Amino acid sequence: MIRKKVPFLILIAALHLLILNNLFSQTPKYIKTIVVDAGHGGSKDPGAIGQYENSLRSQEKDVTLAISLKLVAELRKQLPGVNIVPTRTTDIYQDPREKARIANEAKGDLFLCIHADSGPLKQGRRQIGTRTVTRHKITYTGKGKKKKKIRTSYEVEEPVYEYFKLPLTRSGTSVWIFAAHKTSDKLKAIMDGDENFEIETGGVDSVENSLDFKTPEGRTIAAIYAKRYQERSDRLATMVNEEIEATGRPALGVNQRQKGIWVLQATNMPAILIETGFINNPDDEKYINSEKGQQELASAITEAVKRYKAQVENTNYTPPTKTDITGKKITATPADFEKREIKDAKTIMVNNSTVKIDLYDDGEIDNDIVSVYFNKSLIFDKKPLTASAQSFNIELVPGKTNELVLYADNLGNIPPNTALMVITDGTERHEVRLSADLKNNASIRFELKNKN
Ligand SMILES: [Zn+2]
Repeated sequence: MIRKKVPFLILIAALHLLILNNLFSQTPKYIKTIVVDAGHGGSKDPGAIGQYENSLRSQEKDVTLAISLKLVAELRKQLPGVNIVPTRTTDIYQDPREKARIANEAKGDLFLCIHADSGPLKQGRRQIGTRTVTRHKITYTGKGKKKKKIRTSYEVEEPVYEYFKLPLTRSGTSVWIFAAHKTSDKLKAIMDGDENFEIETGGVDSVENSLDFKTPEGRTIAAIYAKRYQERSDRLATMVNEEIEATGRPALGVNQRQKGIWVLQATNMPAILIETGFINNPDDEKYINSEKGQQELASAITEAVKRYKAQVENTNYTPPTKTDITGKKITATPADFEKREIKDAKTIMVNNSTVKIDLYDDGEIDNDIVSVYFNKSLIFDKKPLTASAQSFNIELVPGKTNELVLYADNLGNIPPNTALMVITDGTERHEVRLSADLKNNASIRFELKNKN
């Protein structure tokens, strides 16, 4: 860029802003490098620790490493052309500056930080016995000079308590992006970056691709980048949240921390931080420490990255077709699913976390077609109800409301749509009659009996 006198600088900067904004909106940004950061690390920085009574005492740094390794493997498998750079693959300590430096030096196009959440724990107490203590009572006799003090001892039983930390009730996965008011820090990260910072100009001569961010024009452009990064971080974060929601886990949305998150601001690229679960919540702690949970999280994040990549690169991406238990392709959730009311709701207490469901038409066979959703995922798509059973198993999530919803795809010949559901819970058997129509869904909530 040729230097001109001051008034022209403003003009040039404004022009640049216009041109770049235009280029940004039309030119795809290719995702060539993705940096995955396993939060915390080493004995110096274990992160949060499971501290409630009977917790697994797991440490955040180990959980983040395990999930990150699975995420790196999944991303490499699903996006073979993309360079996936982990900040660490072993239990080593890294200063946040070190993590940001790795990401910036790798010239990442995305920065994914894996963490686990925690919250303040309340103290609980329980009586573990009693002890005998001696107390004294003082009484007086007589009056005036004859007044005498009498001390009598007596014994009392008093409870002995044991104190412990109560588990956190909050659970779920949340996604964080750098706060809007922290864009100046992001701007600094951009300006401190490579002097020959690469700008996607979509075929424009490469000479124009180098910019000095120390110049006023450069500052303007860096500001556009900071804004653009925030917008892109938000877009990716939203997709991650959606994919988490699709797994049936509580998805706590996209958040901006007022305090700011240093590592997200210090990186010269769109960046998100995923709090995979609460280490001090028993269900979450088990989930983020399990192979199944870690893989589910890695797959959900990968799916979100694939969607994001396709969107910014302007390519088509069709999410994998999901099939129901019978192998039939699942179509999208009907638009009116949420709009329908639940009139017929039942609650069933069960002993086992796996229960078998057999679904029949109740009464006359009249071509009733139904779909079944379990914890909002479609498990059974547009099946006719007949006299012979449609059977499937459901896996209940402990400590959660497990809801099975019957959705009527038609009314059959004799409205409403009625189904007989036989629930096999170990040796116990429940028969439930459900009724749904085009305005109402039927629901069964399963509650796991406490085995203690
Ligand atoms: Zn953390």
